[in-house]
Amino acid sequence: MPLRTVEQYKDSLKDDRQVYFRGQRIPDVTAHPLVQTAIDHEATDYRLMHDPEYRELAVVQNPETGEEMSRYFLPPQNSEQLLKRSELIETACREGGTLVVLAKVVGSDALFGLLRTSRKIDEACGTAYHQRVKAFYDYCCKEDISFALAQTDTKGDRALRPSEQEDPDSYLRIVEEREDGIVVRGAKVHTSNTTHANEMIVLPTRAMGEEDKDYAVAFAIPLNTPGLKLLMSGYGSYTQRNSFDHPVSSGVKMTETLTIFDDVFVPNERIFLQGEWQFAGPLALSFVEYHRLTAISYKLPFLDLLAGAGRLMAEYNGIERAAHVKEKLFWLASYAETTRSLTHMACLKARATDFGMVIPDPPTVNIAKHHFAADFHQALSHVQDLAGGILVTAPAVEDLRSEETGPLIEKYMKGKKGTSGKERLQVINLIQDITTSDFGGYNAVLALHAEGSMEAEKMQLYREYDWQRVRDYAGKMARIGKE
Ligand SMILES: Cc1cc2nc3c(=O)[nH]c(=O)nc-3n(C[C@H](O)[C@H](O)[C@H](O)COP(=O)(O)OP(=O)(O)OC[C@H]3O[C@@H](n4cnc5c(N)ncnc54)[C@H](O)[C@@H]3O)c2cc1C
Repeated sequence: MPLRTVEQYKDSLKDDRQVYFRGQRIPDVTAHPLVQTAIDHEATDYRLMHDPEYRELAVVQNPETGEEMSRYFLPPQNSEQLLKRSELIETACREGGTLVVLAKVVGSDALFGLLRTSRKIDEACGTAYHQRVKAFYDYCCKEDISFALAQTDTKGDRALRPSEQEDPDSYLRIVEEREDGIVVRGAKVHTSNTTHANEMIVLPTRAMGEEDKDYAVAFAIPLNTPGLKLLMSGYGSYTQRNSFDHPVSSGVKMTETLTIFDDVFVPNERIFLQGEWQFAGPLALSFVEYHRLTAISYKLPFLDLLAGAGRLMAEYNGIERAAHVKEKLFWLASYAETTRSLTHMACLKARATDFGMVIPDPPTVNIAKHHFAADFHQALSHVQDLAGGILVTAPAVEDLRSEETGPLIEKYMKGKKGTSGKERLQVINLIQDITTSDFGGYNAVLALHAEGSMEAEKMQLYREYDWQRVRDYAGKMARIGKE
């Protein structure tokens, strides 16, 4: 079944995984209202493959088998393939109501990193990881698997290395090595969509030293593996929202879990790093090299929405010709288009790497991600400024529907001539939902931290930038060595 249907994807989730929410075990995730919304959102990726409008974008031929498969699984070999990948991520997110659809993109980002790095580990250490990674990759393409990706550890004291922590389980570690596999203990945090993905790929979160050997571990396991406990976040537990007051968040949801490995057994064929500490950093980075492109591609629909909502609100309020309003709308348009242009540029400047694969240009992709994250709160501020205080003081849908108060809303909530009270309230609710609600708060934190905090992008740009070139130029202009 290379192209799974939405129904096949949903059926695959009835597997008795151990999910907890607010202290209670969820016996069947497909029957839980909150997870159901998240499942429907993630199913976007499966829906697009069967939609004639998107099929060409979402489906490719597997270059090895000739079978149809999801485009997400195609290891990028040139700029054009990266651009198409980025377009698919942006399209899925737009179709998914501005919230990223991670089902296959996060796993394939990791698989590409693993395919490249496993060969290097094998060459350096005489291991046989690459054939395991390749077998897992083939299985994922064939079964059209959906993924969670667990990289971020709980980390304890951030100033200390994994092996220096007071609690040795602050980073995930190997506690037992057996003939047929390993046993791991610890926890990963913020792991998205574990409640409704099929497989979870686990990667190290940072570079390690020799003393951190037990923490240098990577593998993949199904989400119903015994000992895996998934504690779903209670933040923004928005169920049964009406689509009038919450036009976006009533229909979309991501879940995150504190992902606990309570002595979990991983069989040999699913282990991709076991103690080769010198490769923990390169493996983490090889995932991030693809994942930053995912990050900036999926942001684009949200940035379009901020600019569009700001413009709509200005028009409803009759302020669109004021100089300061044009200035803010210019800023929002420029913010969205600069991010989009950098995203495309990262693909166009694709860097050739090992084994015929390319990666998005590392400096450009990090500048793009940093540009997006650093200005996100400014964008929220501009849209909130254009909308006014009514964002947090507006009447609710019940007032509009009431015979007694409905006409008052029509009379007093309208804006400039030709606008209706109801429609103006709809625009207010849209901006409220995406900037001030718990969904707005979620997006603000997602912007700052998901796919790496801003310092991570700065560090990588600092490392990748061609300092020699600019340094030599400065030396030449200073006439060093000439006078
Ligand atoms: C909604 C959401 C979904 C996510 N989904 C996933 C997922 O699916 N899988 C996954 O693996 N991760 C996921 N993440 C995690 C994300 O990658 C991290 O949030 C990010 O890497 C930052 O790590 P942290 O949250 O632990 O913050 P911290 O690392 O604690 O960062 C907080 C601050 O401390 C600073 N800091 C941290 N360490 C040091 C240090 N040693 N020295 C100086 N300063 C330091 C940081 O720069 C930052 O300013 C998700 C995050 C969010 C918000």
